[in-house]
Amino acid sequence: MRRMRRCKILATLGPASDTREIIGRLFVAGVDVFRINMSHASHDGMRERIRMIRSLEEEYRRPIGILVDLQGPKLRVGLFAEGGHVLEKGDMITFDSDATAGTKSRVCLPHPEILQSLEIGHRVLVDDGKVSLMVTKVAKGSAELRVTVAGRISNKKGVSLPDTTIPTSAMTPKDRADLDAALNEGVDWIAVSFVQRPEDVAEVKKIARGRALVLAKIEKPQAIARLAEIMEISDALMVARGDLGVEMPLEKVPGLQKRITRMARRLGKPVVVATQMLESMITSPVPTRAEVSDVATAVFEGADAVMLSAESASGSFPIEAVETMNRIAEEVERDSIYRQVINAQRSKPEATGADAIAAGARDMAETLELKAIAAWTASGSTALRIARERPEPPVMALTPNKDAARRLCLVWGVHPVVTKDAYDVDDMAMRACKFASREGFAKEGDRIIIVAGVPFGTPGATNMMRIAFVRSEAASGS
Ligand code: PEP
Repeated sequence: MRRMRRCKILATLGPASDTREIIGRLFVAGVDVFRINMSHASHDGMRERIRMIRSLEEEYRRPIGILVDLQGPKLRVGLFAEGGHVLEKGDMITFDSDATAGTKSRVCLPHPEILQSLEIGHRVLVDDGKVSLMVTKVAKGSAELRVTVAGRISNKKGVSLPDTTIPTSAMTPKDRADLDAALNEGVDWIAVSFVQRPEDVAEVKKIARGRALVLAKIEKPQAIARLAEIMEISDALMVARGDLGVEMPLEKVPGLQKRITRMARRLGKPVVVATQMLESMITSPVPTRAEVSDVATAVFEGADAVMLSAESASGSFPIEAVETMNRIAEEVERDSIYRQVINAQRSKPEATGADAIAAGARDMAETLELKAIAAWTASGSTALRIARERPEPPVMALTPNKDAARRLCLVWGVHPVVTKDAYDVDDMAMRACKFASREGFAKEGDRIIIVAGVPFGTPGATNMMRIAFVRSEAASGS
C-alpha cells in the first residue's frame, strides 16, 4: 500500500461512505486520513466508523489516520412562524432573545452572549452570506439590523459574524461531549472549528493531554489576526475555505491559503487545504478544469494534505473523487516545475540537532540519489522535521508507537511503519533496509539513509545518520 505521492488525502465520511466496503475502497483509492464531522455524526455513528477503519487497518496492515472535527459554536437564527421570509435591501429586522416564532421584522437569535457583543456597523451574514445585514442599533438583549444584500432568511439558518469577537470559547457543551467520546475511542487528530484565539486551541489540548493531536481550523478573521500565535500552539492547521470565504471577502482566500501554507511549512506543522476542492464531483464523475487546477495549486505549494468534504461524504462519486485527487497529486509531483516550487519555499533549519540532521539527511540523500530516508522515531517528531525539508526521496518513519504512526498519516511524504524499537545500531540499519525493500522503496544494492536518536526510544534525541546498502532479506538475516 505504498502511495506514489507525497501530498496526503483527507476524506470526510458521511452517508455516501458509511459501509466498511466503501471505506475500504476509499482507502485503496488513496485516502490516508478519514474525517468524521461531528456536525453530522452521532457518538454511535462515530464509534461504528472508527471500528470499521481500525478493522481495515488490520486487514491492510497499514496505519490509517482518523480526524474528528468538532462542530464548534455554529450560530443559527431561531424559527419563523411561516418558515422564513424574503428580505429586501433596506428592510429592517430585529434579532432578540424571545423564543416565540419569528416574523418578517423580528426573529430569535438564541445566543444572548452574541446579542451583547454586536456593535453598530458590524456585519451579520446569514446562510453562508446569501443574506447580508448590518447592525444599526443595539439595546439590552436585542439588535436592530438593516438588510444590505437581499435574500430569504428561514428556520435555523447559520449566522456568521465577521466583525464580532465572540466572547465564549470555541467549545460548546456538545463539543466537550464529542471530544470526550472521540478521545475515548483513541482518535488521532481533533479539529477545532471557529478558532478565534490561541486559548481556544490550548483548551482542547489541555483536555486531550496528548491522547490526540490538535488541528486548528482557520476560518475566522479573528484567527487571521492572531495567526502566528495560533499556529505556534496548534499541532496542525486547516485552511477551512468554506467559512473563511463567508467571513472574509472571497478574493482574499487564495492569498490567505498561500500565507497559511507557507507559515505552516516554515514551522514544520502539517497543513490541510480544505473545501470545495472537487465540488462538482458531488454530482458529476468528472471535475471542472478549475477544480483540477485548485487541487494542483495546493500540491504545488507543498500542502501536507488536500481534503474532500461533501464529495466523499454525501456525493454520488466518492471513490472517483479520491481517485481524481490521487491522480492530480501524482501528476503534479512528477512535473519538473514541482521541485523548483517546493525547493523555493524551503525554510532554513532551526538551530537544533534534529533540524540540522534533517537538513543534512535531505542533502545527502539528494546528492547521493539515495532511495529513501528512514527515520526511527518514537513520537513522530523526527519524521515531522524531515518532512519539513520536503526531501526528494521518500521518507519512511519507523516507530514502535502505533499512535505516532497514525498521526503521521497526515504528514507530507511520510510513510509510517509500526515495528518494535531497534536494540542497537546494527539492528537499526538492518531493519531499516529490510523495511525499505519490503515497502517497495529500495531493492538489493540500493542505498538509503537512516536517521535515529541514540539511546533508542528517547523522544527528541535525534543525533545520528548512517548510509546503508540494502541487501536481500535472506542476506540481511531476516
Ligand atoms: C470549512 O468551513 O471549510 C470547513 C472545513 O468546515 P466545515 O466543513 O465544518 O464547515
